[in-house]
Amino acid sequence: MAHDHHDHDHHHGQEPPSDMALRVKALESLLVEKGLVDPAALDAIVEHYEHKVGPRNGARVVAKAWSDPEFRRRLLDDASDAIAELGYLGRQGEHMVAVENTPEVHNLVVCTLCSCYPWPVLGLPPTWYKSSPYRSRAVIDPRGVLAEFGTELPEDVEVRVWDSTAEVRYLVIPQRPAGSEGLDEEALAAMVTRDGMIGTARL
Ligand code: FE
Repeated sequence: MAHDHHDHDHHHGQEPPSDMALRVKALESLLVEKGLVDPAALDAIVEHYEHKVGPRNGARVVAKAWSDPEFRRRLLDDASDAIAELGYLGRQGEHMVAVENTPEVHNLVVCTLCSCYPWPVLGLPPTWYKSSPYRSRAVIDPRGVLAEFGTELPEDVEVRVWDSTAEVRYLVIPQRPAGSEGLDEEALAAMVTRDGMIGTARL
């Protein structure tokens, strides 16, 4: 297949198809025509990431990190290994890095080049994540982008922007919400949003 960096760029929402989307479509048609791939198998892969994976896997990782200090430590030391403990393995998630929000630091994830995203924990990326305004502005003006998402950060909070690549994918560990003491992992996971794990939202 083509360069690994782009093989997940499937959907472009309302935007006209990009050159890359057209190339992917043409390649898919050719492979199907030559009998090299089964279109049902491709649909099954997309279906799996859109509906079966989704951000709830990431939410369970975050809830466990909030509940289990030893797991949190392992997650921050080597996120790929810690996430694998929970069984969330798969393509586009081989080299994970977890970054933790604190009262002093807020983390924001982008892929400036295309749309790299940690599939095994967050599913497929939302359309805005793949849009060129988000990709360019998240780096140039992260506070402005966050404000547009309704996330106003105090001046003294440092914003760190992480640029995903084919090699490294990031997961933001949001701050545990006040008042969540005593909740079990399932209830905690229900509080964790996809945008909280990309960093465009706070919980
Ligand atoms: Fe990318």
